[in-house]
Amino acid sequence: MPQVFTNHRAGPINSAVLLFSGGMDSVCIAHLCHPDLLLYVPSHSAYNQAEDECIQQLVRRNLIAREKLIILSQSTLNLRIWERDDMIVPNRNAHLLLLASNFGDHLMLASVEGDRSNDKDEYFYHLMKQLLNHMWDEQHWTAQRKFTVSSPAKNWTKAELVHSYLRSGGTRDALLTSYSCYAGYSTHCGICKPCARKWVALALNGVRTPKGYFREAFWDQEWFQKAYPLMLEQQYRGREDEDFVRFVRNPPQGYAPKDELPDWTSQLQNAKVPLHGPLAPIDFPEEVRVNEKTEGSDSAAGESKLD
Ligand SMILES: [Zn+2]
Repeated sequence: MPQVFTNHRAGPINSAVLLFSGGMDSVCIAHLCHPDLLLYVPSHSAYNQAEDECIQQLVRRNLIAREKLIILSQSTLNLRIWERDDMIVPNRNAHLLLLASNFGDHLMLASVEGDRSNDKDEYFYHLMKQLLNHMWDEQHWTAQRKFTVSSPAKNWTKAELVHSYLRSGGTRDALLTSYSCYAGYSTHCGICKPCARKWVALALNGVRTPKGYFREAFWDQEWFQKAYPLMLEQQYRGREDEDFVRFVRNPPQGYAPKDELPDWTSQLQNAKVPLHGPLAPIDFPEEVRVNEKTEGSDSAAGESKLD
């Protein structure tokens, strides 16, 4: 029978929870910020299965702290019907933060400079904190909980985040095992926006990818031809645009040799773009290869930590 007076009054949970997707940004922030928990919420996106398999790989290969990982049940949240043609899911981060609030008072997202959606900006974090503080204020069923909502790398571009990650002992193996692609293949398509952003961030940090890691080149795509002139004016993703311009103008060895760049980029070479300070390239002596996918990988089920 339901209790009229609860025997389980809720109260503060002094844990820091990172919304974890297996993407490169969340892998970096998990390493840099030492959250207590990594919360993965499958949401039935088009790339959900690849994301699940990526997280299993990260765990199997001890590239993330498995004792921190919480995987919610597949039945917890289904946002597939709201997924748009540009892969944006309206309200997505609000859903995820509300779920994360059940695990801790300090909530972290892995967004970076260059993320454009309003549910990844500072005002959104402020509003979510206010909302959670209101819903969890002192009342008959709970003691007061005071939340923080933050995105520690929000002022860094993706390349700067990777730079900090590597400088603090992160591994390129984990970077390459992370999965950031809208296509949902077992390997990165190379042409979607997350792939392009990951490619540039890796390249600017001297992290070479094994042959075939990215299936195709984003710089040949129509969307990039439209975006690049905006990047030259820093009108697309703000400061991250400089990273793309640097990549196109002076591709690191092994990436997009100039003679492979389409003609249209050469017409824009003379535009003046102030670039921020150079990132020191980090040399790794050995080639690190991503292991082939393990067949028959276990899909996580139930709300449980892996063990
Ligand atoms: Zn992709």
